[in-house]
Amino acid sequence: TVLPKAWRQRLKEQGVTIGRLQEVHRLTAHDGTKKILLSTDDNETIEAVGIPTEKRLTICLSSQIGCSMGCIFCATGKGGYQRSLAVHEIMTQIISLREAFDRRPSHVVFMGMGEPLLNIESVLDAIHCLNHDLGISQRRITLSTVGVKNTLPKLVELAQKRLGSVQFTLAISLHAPNQTLREKLVPSARAYPISLLLKDCRSYFELTGRRVSFEYILLGNLNDQIHHAEQLASLINGLHSHVNLIPYNPIEGENFQRPSQSQIVLFKSILESRGISATVRASRGLDKDAACGQLRRQYLQTKFK
Ligand code: SAH
Ligand code: SF4
Repeated sequence: TVLPKAWRQRLKEQGVTIGRLQEVHRLTAHDGTKKILLSTDDNETIEAVGIPTEKRLTICLSSQIGCSMGCIFCATGKGGYQRSLAVHEIMTQIISLREAFDRRPSHVVFMGMGEPLLNIESVLDAIHCLNHDLGISQRRITLSTVGVKNTLPKLVELAQKRLGSVQFTLAISLHAPNQTLREKLVPSARAYPISLLLKDCRSYFELTGRRVSFEYILLGNLNDQIHHAEQLASLINGLHSHVNLIPYNPIEGENFQRPSQSQIVLFKSILESRGISATVRASRGLDKDAACGQLRRQYLQTKFK
């Protein structure tokens, strides 16, 4: 409504849709975390999450509908791939959540549905809008990727062109300390060996001066043992990085275990004793439906029952 009415009318006549996507479902947890589902013009659904703390409102955005990477522990991966999101479909998520919380978002993470590096242009356009239209600085934005061959150098080049400089945090979903195990958890890793991924991370640091963050999902007895922590520490030794440990959130139809608290603490302490900085991602509300893509999957299942 900030646009002149006559102009809006003209745009409408030219077939341009004005307005926001419709919210079709919302979950609110006891700790205030909100998950929303938005319906697109082609009847797909997009999931987005807002995570409030006293000082921050972090918004978790989706970059695609579904995902083609097929990680075995991920609800989004299980549902297959539909399509990439356009920039307005990314921005509508944060605007809807800003309204739902009646509060300015402070941080943004691209950790919802989809693989951002398979939709680089729209994601960079969205980062530009987040900076310029919503006043969220790049340093408060994290782009999470499982890694796509040949895209990290391209990301730096395109980001420099589109944003002037690369200041956002790059999070690499590593999840395993060696190639064999990684291929089991992340099938797309077959096409992009760990050695090459880490080489690209090193050049990313050299080109941007930004420390890379590694995400490591902890799956009980699969990748959470002492020797895994030791191997991970050797693998990334010397890289300017940080490790974010993510205890597995159970998803429907899979029997992976969430490690015990003592195992998580042990894993972290082994990394730290070898000079690797590490944190454990705090569990938030909606634990039952917390894992990425779960709400959408549940919604689709009930819709088509
Ligand atoms: N495709 C990108 C970004 C979206 S997934 C990527 O994989 O990095 C964002 C994060 O959610 C990833 O680190 C992924 O490992 C994590 N995730 C997916 N399923 C999960 C689950 N069941 N429990 C905990 N974390 C999960
Ligand atoms: Fe895709 Fe990320 Fe889920 Fe893997 S974890 S299937 S890359 S959304």
